[in-house]
Amino acid sequence: MATRRALVVGGSLGGLLTAHLLRDVGWEVTVFERNAEDLTGRGAGISTHPQLIDILRRVGIDFDESMGIKVDVVICLDRTGHTYLETETARTMSSWGRLYRSLRDPLPSANYRLGKSLVRVEQDADGVTAVFADGTRASGDLLVGADGLRSTVREQFLPDVEPNYAGYVAWRAMLDESDVPPAIRAEIFERYTFCLPEGELLLAYPVPGRNNETQAGRRAYNIVWYRPTDPDRALPNLCTDAAGRCHGTAIPPPLIRSDVTAAIKAAARALVAPQVAEIFARTPQPFFQPIFDLESPRTVFGRVALLGDAAFVARPHVGAGVTKAALDAAALADAVAWDDVAAGLLLYQSQQQPFGSGLVALGREEGAYLSAQLKPREQRTAAELHRDIHDVLNAHNSRSENLRRVLVVAGGA
Ligand SMILES: Cc1cc2nc3c(=O)[nH]c(=O)nc-3n(C[C@H](O)[C@H](O)[C@H](O)COP(=O)(O)OP(=O)(O)OC[C@H]3O[C@@H](n4cnc5c(N)ncnc54)[C@H](O)[C@@H]3O)c2cc1C
Repeated sequence: MATRRALVVGGSLGGLLTAHLLRDVGWEVTVFERNAEDLTGRGAGISTHPQLIDILRRVGIDFDESMGIKVDVVICLDRTGHTYLETETARTMSSWGRLYRSLRDPLPSANYRLGKSLVRVEQDADGVTAVFADGTRASGDLLVGADGLRSTVREQFLPDVEPNYAGYVAWRAMLDESDVPPAIRAEIFERYTFCLPEGELLLAYPVPGRNNETQAGRRAYNIVWYRPTDPDRALPNLCTDAAGRCHGTAIPPPLIRSDVTAAIKAAARALVAPQVAEIFARTPQPFFQPIFDLESPRTVFGRVALLGDAAFVARPHVGAGVTKAALDAAALADAVAWDDVAAGLLLYQSQQQPFGSGLVALGREEGAYLSAQLKPREQRTAAELHRDIHDVLNAHNSRSENLRRVLVVAGGA
């Protein structure tokens, strides 16, 4: 078989996983990432699942103790800091940066092109061409859109598909382990911690440190705090910088106004356990991400396939964005390993479509309580007015099992 060439648009985790898996089945692959420099410092904690670890092993990355931090106890803290529930868990928390480096480093530089922003895709019977903002073009036999929630590839083929705002944002804070006060560190650092202010949800856990270290003393503590935020007034206010410019539905963290940062730190002091509020207050730059979900009715358009967040985004409660991107990439590589690429792509679409939709539905189910908080109180159901901590823990502890169930229903496992 002549060498076949794949163009992968987007050099984040989905794009990198695709590059490795396609190379393993004989494709020549070039990744095109619009950022001018390697993607570092995104800093977010990533839940791992056995399915992700299996795929990393398939591309030669051993998920050893340097990849993540094992957490075996979950605690729930009330507003006074008292532990009112403690139970076992078995989670390994990695970080975006740790996974990125392990996938990026083994890929030759010639196969990972930075500063390449796709503007358009052209295709005919002989091939597909990516057209970039700098005027250059690249041609191949397959183009994979791994370009995330605001995918340029998806916008071209599915212009009417828009991300849905879920009605809440995730405030995020990350503090170096060495900056966590020793008494708080001893009490909660190595535990997966929940706080449930009314109508909200906060989770916190240790992650690899800023240089991806997993050794004690060099790790970091990660807080994710979901807060209902009305899209008409509160969200635009959060996204408006000190000069009065509104940046849409998201704002670069350094541009978050000082009064917004002061207000969220004060809210932490008022609403969550003091141990967690202290860590939150010590974080130099908390930031927020509005929560969206997204469902594509199709993922294949001739020689073009959508993958990862470009195709489907499930709310982060399912903790599976990276695992889903990995499963998409593995299904795609398996499907196009043989001669008939067109048939392979249709097989990929038929497998990943129900999987993506199933995960989006699961994320909506788990986030329904938070979304409902924007309704007037009198219109909320009993389940929307009160959230049982046991339901939260059950959902948390069955994440990998739920993911497997969605995969089985979709026919992928
Ligand atoms: C609050 C929150 C918590 C989360 N927690 C978890 C978790 O615990 N576990 C988990 O697995 N996932 C989690 N996720 C999701 C996870 O971060 C994503 O699902 C995952 O990174 C998907 O990767 P992707 O490669 O498909 O897209 P992205 O990571 O969005 O990457 C897209 C890439 O494409 C590039 N790009 C975009 N447009 C162009 C263009 N025109 N030309 C060239 N390049 C382009 C971008 O620069 C970017 O590098 C969370 C997300 C949020 C918001």
